[in-house]
Amino acid sequence: MPGSSSMLISLRENISSVRRNGAGASPLLSLAFNIDLLRNIVFFFFVLRAARRTVWKLKGRGVFGTAAELYIDTRRILFGWFLRMPGVRSKVREQVEEALGKMEEKLVPSGMTRYTKLPTTGWAYDDVRKQLEALSGLEHTRWEDGRVSGAVYHGEDDLMALQTEAYGKFTVANPIHPDVFPGVRKMEAEIVAMVLGLFNGPQGSAGVTTSGGTESILMACLSARQKGYIERGITEPEMIIPETAHTAFHKASQYYKIKLHLVKCPAPGYQVDVRSVARLINPNTVLLVGSAPNFPHGIIDDIAGLGRLASRNKIPLHVDCCLGSFMVPMLEKAGFETTPFDFRVRGVTSISVDTHKYGFAPKGNSVVLYRTTTLRGYQYFVSADWAGGVYASPGAAGSRPGALIAGCWASMMAVGESGYLEACGKIVGTAHKFAEHITTSPLLKSDIEVMGRPLVSVVAFKAKKSKSSGSAVNIYSLADAMSAKGWHLNALQNPPAIHVAFTMPIVKAYDSLVADLEACIEEEREKARVRAVEAASSGSKGLGMMAKGDSDGDAAALYGVAGSLPNKSVVVDLATGFLDLLYKA
Ligand SMILES: *Cc1c(COP(=O)(O)O)cnc(C)c1O
Repeated sequence: MPGSSSMLISLRENISSVRRNGAGASPLLSLAFNIDLLRNIVFFFFVLRAARRTVWKLKGRGVFGTAAELYIDTRRILFGWFLRMPGVRSKVREQVEEALGKMEEKLVPSGMTRYTKLPTTGWAYDDVRKQLEALSGLEHTRWEDGRVSGAVYHGEDDLMALQTEAYGKFTVANPIHPDVFPGVRKMEAEIVAMVLGLFNGPQGSAGVTTSGGTESILMACLSARQKGYIERGITEPEMIIPETAHTAFHKASQYYKIKLHLVKCPAPGYQVDVRSVARLINPNTVLLVGSAPNFPHGIIDDIAGLGRLASRNKIPLHVDCCLGSFMVPMLEKAGFETTPFDFRVRGVTSISVDTHKYGFAPKGNSVVLYRTTTLRGYQYFVSADWAGGVYASPGAAGSRPGALIAGCWASMMAVGESGYLEACGKIVGTAHKFAEHITTSPLLKSDIEVMGRPLVSVVAFKAKKSKSSGSAVNIYSLADAMSAKGWHLNALQNPPAIHVAFTMPIVKAYDSLVADLEACIEEEREKARVRAVEAASSGSKGLGMMAKGDSDGDAAALYGVAGSLPNKSVVVDLATGFLDLLYKA
């Protein structure tokens, strides 16, 4: 910490000057003495605070880790300045606008009538129906044919029809008025009870339903922050999460001002490094996090190890089972290998579970579970003095759609344990088959490899250096080639990879997934070979900063050059422009 020794010297001088001033007895001098003393106390606390933070930092990251962070931050800042230099800035803006223009062509359909003004008189219901029909039939990536990773987890007509019926009965329902809609209150409480049962909630455990995984995670983080503040007086809360944890934790960090520490999840297992988590714990830590499994690689962290750490240090531990939802609790009964993930692990204090993923409920449903009602209470919002009356709501929303709760309850009751078990057999079984195929198929194993040992439904793979050509296929180019064949797989970064989240529709499309992947790899292998030959003959690669080959698809463009820059402000600009496009009528 630069300047700390000079600070200490000036502290010493201040103290001796206080002593000198204190020798006189006039009221003026004594006032000066008091102000001086106050100043010194404030100064002392400032030094103490800075010293404590320095110690925590060095303990958490080590000298080399701290230096590396400093280097990365400096590079990012310098590169940010570079991007804002007059000539560069306009060039970057031009490129971003061009990319956004292309995005707009794809996202915003032309040739359809745009309705940007309220109809002067309302349409006939049949005209509305016709429009809705047209809108639902717009050309899209075919989840119905199992071409989309994740997104639609069940999608069978009969279940969707039942959900629609459930909506229909509760269209106007709002759980904020339990006296008006008692049926919705009952269903909501039962959803929570059933999910608590699946995750072995102990006596006294509790939960709430939310609008989705993100809200469940936000609420768990809020609860942990409030616990830290109320029970331990923590005003500068920090949480420690795996770098592979869902970005909703980053959102919680921003929204609720909780400092975030990311921990590496090193190869070959890609689980969070529990020893690094331990080093980062300090008196301001309000929450530890593990995923079961994480979104990028589908890997379940060492929840038992994190649990020991959490209970030893008396810190809450959240398990993100948003994605694992109803599949992870079924693993054992379905005959698959499993690992500790729920309240049976002593340190686990909260769990997020997305009923709208493998719970097969309609979108807009999730549950967050707590070991105690006290922990749940920390996420509540109560306003006792409001002019609108005494107000209380469990989560971030005020009014909520009762129809979605009805849709969730109906789905859970209709699928039942037997249905989820059967789905687990199919979905996890197919994911395992896929991972096994990548590892053993002569057409795949020399070019791509599975990341870690995925136990559930998501399989991630990355490029391997091919033995024959010595060069690796470009994984983003592979993702784009699959897109060209109608697939929507998930591109990942740090490291570059792709994942497939298996769903009921993908299970049925398994054979074409494998066939298309093998065909695309073949093409990419050839491209990689040509690249290697060219590089060898020219001796150097062209280094156009933003100028990539025209043939690049979306993933290659986004993650290729822009993504590898030390400062991601270009990507932020692109993504912000993308969000703006969503609202282009
Ligand atoms: C999907 C997901 C979430 C939350 O997502 P929502 O889109 O807000 O429902 C959280 N964690 C993981 C691991 C996920 O896969």
